[in-house]
Amino acid sequence: MKIEVLGCSGGMGKGESTTCIRINDNLLIDAGSGLGRLSQQEMLSIEHVFLTHAHLDHICFLPLLLDNLFEQLEAPLQVYALPEVIKALQTHIFNWSIWPDFSQLPNATNAVLKFNPIVTNQQHQFAMTRLTAISAQHVVPACGYIVQEDDGAVFCFSGDTRFDQQVTAAYNQLGAIDALMLECAFPDRLADIAIKSQHLTPASLAEFILSLDTAPKQLWITHLKPSFRDEIWGELMRLNLPVSIRLLSSGDTFFLEHDRCAPET
Ligand SMILES: [Zn+2]
Ligand SMILES: [Zn+2]
Repeated sequence: MKIEVLGCSGGMGKGESTTCIRINDNLLIDAGSGLGRLSQQEMLSIEHVFLTHAHLDHICFLPLLLDNLFEQLEAPLQVYALPEVIKALQTHIFNWSIWPDFSQLPNATNAVLKFNPIVTNQQHQFAMTRLTAISAQHVVPACGYIVQEDDGAVFCFSGDTRFDQQVTAAYNQLGAIDALMLECAFPDRLADIAIKSQHLTPASLAEFILSLDTAPKQLWITHLKPSFRDEIWGELMRLNLPVSIRLLSSGDTFFLEHDRCAPET
């Protein structure tokens, strides 16, 4: 499984892009500003976009992607999300005021954008790759994703979430996870803001990891607010979690196999 972290920051700035992950060239999880790293040709090869939730840092480049590809798309771009997320996009983004409704263009029966409502625990199969939405707890309806490949590789992405036993119970159904990408937006001294905005801090991330029956083989940390990056990473290191931990950067690429993960050099 090829995993390209096009964006993984909790904010913006030089070298910082917001959440967008490309899997095996043709599938995206979220459509944050990291999507802007792709060439026009690479954008054209995207067929499926799975969204974790409707917050701007996760969807901001989806309208621009459709505009870029409008004349060239031969099949509709398939966008998958919880029904509440689709409703939010239709009401607040693709509403003809902020952006055209591409699900009606060039006409309703032959549109370039197709919304596909999803439910958690339902599997979507594409060639050798299976995607399943998994529970998350955030201030708006949200999910994470499990990506599995026929060779046994398992990649999980939490999306934006707080720690909750119900959330980790879903991960415990999976067994061994080769790589878990987990958000950690705030340092512990801002735990009150993290609780209000339903994000993780190093302390609640530790609770998350320790409530898993089996530690993931790799833990990838994402969604740090840029101004707290060093502080959060310092706190995470001091936790000495019983797992191999890595701070992701926008542009990181991995080749994940069951029991083996090679970063691109
Ligand atoms: Zn969010
Ligand atoms: Zn976010």
